[in-house]
Amino acid sequence: MTGPLSGVAMVTGAAGGIGAEVVRALVDAELPVALIDRDVPALWELAAELDATGARVLAVATDVTDSADVDTAVAKVEVELGPIEYLVNAAGVLRSGPAAELSDEEWDTTFAVNAGGVFHASRAVARVMVPRRRGAIVTVASNAAATPRMSMSAYAASKAASAMFTKCLGLELAGHGIRCNVVAPGSTRTPMLTALQGDAAERASVDGVPAAYRVGIPLGRIAEPAHIADAVLFLLSERAAHITMHDLTVDGGAALG
Ligand code: NAD
Repeated sequence: MTGPLSGVAMVTGAAGGIGAEVVRALVDAELPVALIDRDVPALWELAAELDATGARVLAVATDVTDSADVDTAVAKVEVELGPIEYLVNAAGVLRSGPAAELSDEEWDTTFAVNAGGVFHASRAVARVMVPRRRGAIVTVASNAAATPRMSMSAYAASKAASAMFTKCLGLELAGHGIRCNVVAPGSTRTPMLTALQGDAAERASVDGVPAAYRVGIPLGRIAEPAHIADAVLFLLSERAAHITMHDLTVDGGAALG
C-alpha cells in the first residue's frame, strides 16, 4: 500500500500512541527501526515485544530536548543498525490551558520538545543524510498548527514552528535528494488525547463544542493511530518520491481543508 521502503528508520516518541504505531508499520515493512523516547520503561517494553517477533529494533533512551543526547543516539543507530534512511519526528507534549494562565515552564517545555526536539533530531539526521544524498524526514505536527484551538496556544504555536522548520529544511535539502514532509493529525486515540480530556474527549471532538472546537470532525470519528501511520509511511515511501515540503492533514476534515 505504501510502496517501496528500504533502509534504517529512526522514530522519536516511539513509545507513544502514534510513534509506536509508526514503529509497528515500519517493522511490518521489514525495516530495521531505532526507537527513540525518554520514557524508558515503555521504550523497553515495546522493544522487547518487537524483538521477540524477530524484528530488528534498537531502543535508545533519549531526551530530544538535549541536542548532545540526540547526536549520541544518531551516532549509535548508524553504528548498530546502519545508515539512517528515514526519520519520523513523533515525540511531543501537550500543555493545555488558557494563554493568560500558562506558566513560563509550560511554554518553554512545549517549545523545547515540540520545536526543539524536531530541530535536534532533524539536524543530526540531515548531517549524515546529506553526504549520502538520500533520505526522507516526516514530522508529526498537528492540525492545531494552522487552525486556532482554545487552550492550545503554546502547543499550536510550537507545532507551527516544527512544521515550518521541516518545510524550510525540505527546501534546503531538496538539492541533496532528501525529502522533508509534515503530517498534521487531528484528534487521535492515544494517551495524549486521553490525558487532555478524559472519557468525554471522543464525543466532544466529533460533535464539536462551540466553546472548545470550531466544527467538530466532519467524518464523524477521531483518528486511530494507524490512520496517522499510513500517512507517515506514504510520505516516507517511494510513492511520494516527488513530494516534499508538503503538509498532509489527517483529521477527518476538522480543519476544513
Ligand atoms: P503520546 O503522549 O502517546 O506520545 C508522545 C511520546 O513522546 C511519548 O512516548 C513521550 O514519552 C515522548 N516524548 C515526550 N517528550 C519527549 C522528549 N523530551 N524526548 C523523547 N521523547 C519524548 O502522544 P501521541 O498522541 O502519540 O503524539 C505523537 C505526536 O502526535 C506528538 O507530536 C503529538 O503532538 C502529535 N499529535 C497528536 C494528536 C492526538 O490527538 N493524539 C493530535 C495531533 C498531533
